[in-house]
Amino acid sequence: MSIAENLEKVRASIPDGVKLVAVSKTKPVEDIKEAYDLGIRDFGENKVQEFLTKYDNFGSDVRWHIIGHLQANKVKYIVGKVFLIHSLDSVKLLKELEKRYSKENLFADALIEINIGREESKSGILLENLDELLGECQRCSNVRVKGLMTVIPIGDEESNKKYFSQMKSLFEKLKGMKLKNVEMKYLSMGMTGDYKTAILEGANIVRIGQGIFGKRNYN
Ligand SMILES: *Cc1c(COP(=O)(O)O)cnc(C)c1O
Repeated sequence: MSIAENLEKVRASIPDGVKLVAVSKTKPVEDIKEAYDLGIRDFGENKVQEFLTKYDNFGSDVRWHIIGHLQANKVKYIVGKVFLIHSLDSVKLLKELEKRYSKENLFADALIEINIGREESKSGILLENLDELLGECQRCSNVRVKGLMTVIPIGDEESNKKYFSQMKSLFEKLKGMKLKNVEMKYLSMGMTGDYKTAILEGANIVRIGQGIFGKRNYN
């Protein structure tokens, strides 16, 4: 199936109010341009180096999303170039974002990535460390928390539902706390295989790669 056909199907299955981020990692600029010509403006990349090579090919109407683990020492390369960082997962990263963005008088909008399935192989913060991170977020002036993100463990429908609904509960709880600098606007969860369930459970950003661009080639 072509990108156009895939997109048509995906779009038809996403209700108004849910933002679609097209995950273009490993895919060439031509594929991104094709999706762009079909109206997509939100693209997700997981590696800073790869993101930078693509970034220069597009104008300021494109909103870039960093969805992969972000090392603190890479922050300096992305300042001012990214619409939303989905992977804030440590105090160390937060402090580097605050430092680099305040230097440029810019704001970093970020989602806190939660390792809801407690998987060692995954990035994201564990729930028991969330309070400390939230405390530090409230001391920031140039990093603004805009919500939560997760990548759930591989599992069946029932397991997916369980993790997504835990995330939604946490999202609502934090929203109710009205913490300074911590807004619960976006709940980013759901990928090609599970985004429909994620939406039913309350996601308002879905990140879809293979469902739009086809299978990825890792060389
Ligand atoms: C690759 C990736 C996606 C997209 O996955 P697909 O299965 O291709 O839809 C979404 N979120 C993150 C964090 C990813 O790394």
